[in-house]
Amino acid sequence: MTAVNKVAVIGSGVAGLAAAIQLAKAGVEVDVFEAKPELAALGSGISLQGNALRVFDALGAWDDIRAAGYAFEGLTLRAPGPDAPVVAELPDVKTGGPDYPAAMGMPRAELARILLAHAERAGATLHFGAKATGLTQSPASVELFIDSTSVGLYDLVVGADGVNSTVRDLIGIAVKPQPTGMGIWRTFVSRPAEVERTQLYYGGPVYIAGYTPTGEDSMYAFLVEKAQDRSGVSDEQATRIMLDESRAYGGPWHQIRTDLEQGAHANYTWFTQHLVTAPWNRGRVVIIGDAAHSCPPTIAQGAAQGLEDSYVLTELLTTRDHLDQTLWDDFHERRIPRAQAVVEASVQLGQWQIDGNRDADTGGLIFGIAQKMAQPA
Ligand SMILES: Cc1cc2nc3c(=O)[nH]c(=O)nc-3n(C[C@H](O)[C@H](O)[C@H](O)COP(=O)(O)OP(=O)(O)OC[C@H]3O[C@@H](n4cnc5c(N)ncnc54)[C@H](O)[C@@H]3O)c2cc1C
Repeated sequence: MTAVNKVAVIGSGVAGLAAAIQLAKAGVEVDVFEAKPELAALGSGISLQGNALRVFDALGAWDDIRAAGYAFEGLTLRAPGPDAPVVAELPDVKTGGPDYPAAMGMPRAELARILLAHAERAGATLHFGAKATGLTQSPASVELFIDSTSVGLYDLVVGADGVNSTVRDLIGIAVKPQPTGMGIWRTFVSRPAEVERTQLYYGGPVYIAGYTPTGEDSMYAFLVEKAQDRSGVSDEQATRIMLDESRAYGGPWHQIRTDLEQGAHANYTWFTQHLVTAPWNRGRVVIIGDAAHSCPPTIAQGAAQGLEDSYVLTELLTTRDHLDQTLWDDFHERRIPRAQAVVEASVQLGQWQIDGNRDADTGGLIFGIAQKMAQPA
């Protein structure tokens, strides 16, 4: 017996697909509606912490994820300069427990491909080019509108439609993501052999420079700067900006610049922050993942939090008989304090950079959050 029999998931990001996998595996009829015409084939990389890897295992996707990513432990801090001197080698907390690596880098497109395959194999039906535009609900069901046409009644609609969530608007939650004052340049490049974990550079012309391995031959590199309007920047100018802003950094940055000169694409986005306070549901519609919370990736926990939202929600839905207030209370109690801790710490770490606060206890804050995440959600 499950609390729901037929569910619509809006959005095919990590949160939406994770929810679809777990529900479909429990025998729930699941439709996933995704506005984009197809799965994104391109994109940068992502760093997945141990607590995210633990969720992939619970979904049955861990073997595929492990084979497609690059596992690593620890964090290297380096300084600006031609030789990029190593300043510190820091240990990691294994937030997923001893059975998983501390972290894993992987290409975002690979992650999406694996989760989609698992969702389809579990029995979920994927609809691409299908934008959720409206819903009306009664105590017993939700009528969902895709591209302004009704697609029928569902027991539950899960809004996993990202930071600019339509579902959030449709259920009247007025919270909007706010810029944090930082913007990030990212590029996907080849991995020099010496890059075996995330390496970060503080100091120099940007707030943070760094890179994370995503496979034997690949990694993503990034430069975090003061947020600027980069909307009119051409591809060529974007490459030039990354080249110029990275000149202060040596070591593996020499190879990154070579790749940029040979055509690696540079992508720009601003960091945002928001947290929807309880409740995340209105009747039979609930938001999860970036729809409910966003933060700068200063501790790389955004996707992990979305995965935990999906896991906790679907665990409750598939082990209870009724979709009642007790279920929602339990969901909020298990998820909101944890997501809030991550958002607040991530924002604080970014703000210390913006303020140039050199005395802040950065290590203490990161360690404290990692300890908290090491407890299962
Ligand atoms: C620069 C940057 C770097 C980051 N790095 C990391 C990292 O290293 N590690 C980490 O854990 N997190 C990281 N994050 C955060 C992480 O990317 C997000 O938390 C995560 O991808 C959110 O997943 P999601 O499924 O909630 O939303 P999304 O991945 O945004 O998916 C939402 C989906 O919904 C679709 N959609 C939107 N509206 C509709 C609609 N009306 N109808 C149908 N479909 C719709 C969208 O097309 C999209 O496919 C980073 C974020 C940023 C900005």
